Amino acid sequence: MNITKNKVSPCMHRRKPDDETKLGFGVIMSNHMFMMDYNLNQEWHNPRIEPYGPLHLYPSAAILHYAQEGFEGLKAYRSKSDEIYLFRPKDNLKRLSRTCDRMCIPQYPQELIYNGLMELLNMDRDWIPSSPGTSLYIRPNIIATEAFIGVRPSNEYLFYIITGPVGAYYPEGFAPVKIMVENIYSRAAHGGAGEAKTAGNYGTTLKGQMDAHNKGFSQVLWLDSKEHRYIEEVGTTNIFFKFKDELVTPPLAGTILPGITRDSIITLAKDLGLNMQERTITIDEVVSRIQAGEMEEVFCSGTAAVISPVSVLHYDDQDHGVGNGKEYPLSQKLFDMLTAIQFGEVEDPYGWREKI
Ligand SMILES: *Cc1c(COP(=O)(O)O)cnc(C)c1O
Repeated sequence: MNITKNKVSPCMHRRKPDDETKLGFGVIMSNHMFMMDYNLNQEWHNPRIEPYGPLHLYPSAAILHYAQEGFEGLKAYRSKSDEIYLFRPKDNLKRLSRTCDRMCIPQYPQELIYNGLMELLNMDRDWIPSSPGTSLYIRPNIIATEAFIGVRPSNEYLFYIITGPVGAYYPEGFAPVKIMVENIYSRAAHGGAGEAKTAGNYGTTLKGQMDAHNKGFSQVLWLDSKEHRYIEEVGTTNIFFKFKDELVTPPLAGTILPGITRDSIITLAKDLGLNMQERTITIDEVVSRIQAGEMEEVFCSGTAAVISPVSVLHYDDQDHGVGNGKEYPLSQKLFDMLTAIQFGEVEDPYGWREKI
């Protein structure tokens, strides 16, 4: 299938900020977007690149009522020698395909989407920033567009990909985060859609997130929905605990998002010879091992920040300081290893990087 291209006219060009220290996250969008439609007769058709702009949707479109959708998040990185790399992009497309399955969205042609993404990135190549730590965030999204108010899978969909330059997460070195353990709300239940990257999982977390913000914490740590004992994940990141004798992350048991950063860290940790364990872990174990002085580091993992060390866990009205609160050697080491691969600074023995 041919990808039609409709380039933005020069007078309609969006302004790319000159100062890359002020990019922030998710605010600025590039000039173009990839789009493709689905209906029952034609299935996926009309792949195209268009100027970035508003969508034309009916107020009755299914997505707006029942959140039948799936999304992804990945980045393009510019190396010092001006090459552009993606990090494990095919794993993002596979995960989106699993989300589609969970959300009754028809499977899409992965190779065509991959080619569409390449064309989009080539067209907006100038938008990929070059200052250290900056990148181009890529957001694929599939939404149910049929104008029908009734609860059943939509017969029409729109697949689109938008991109935008994002700033360095740690322009002045690692900044540890303080996290509140959420004891009232939960993010996902067994049998729910917690392992799918789908809109409905996020709107419901805002309340806990706001409570945490108002108390001075930047993120929420979610516990399991049934007993509020087992650690799940943090905001839009997975979580790791480094004890004296092992590195632990909760297993993928249906309620947490299978992070690609998480998976990469597990691989690196094993290669570093660490005792890497995917096992259930309770908040009680975490607190008691902090109190026993056995917790060396806690960190979160995700595409946006790669790794965020945690300085404080707040649970049951008490602050629990992690490690010495100053140095995070393992977090730093894994961060340096991963970003060096992403930015094309070292060999990539795992085949994670794709040059475009
Ligand atoms: C996207 C996401 C992650 C991290 O996944 P990565 O592939 O590492 O970016 C973790 N948890 C949630 C809830 C997410 O949405």
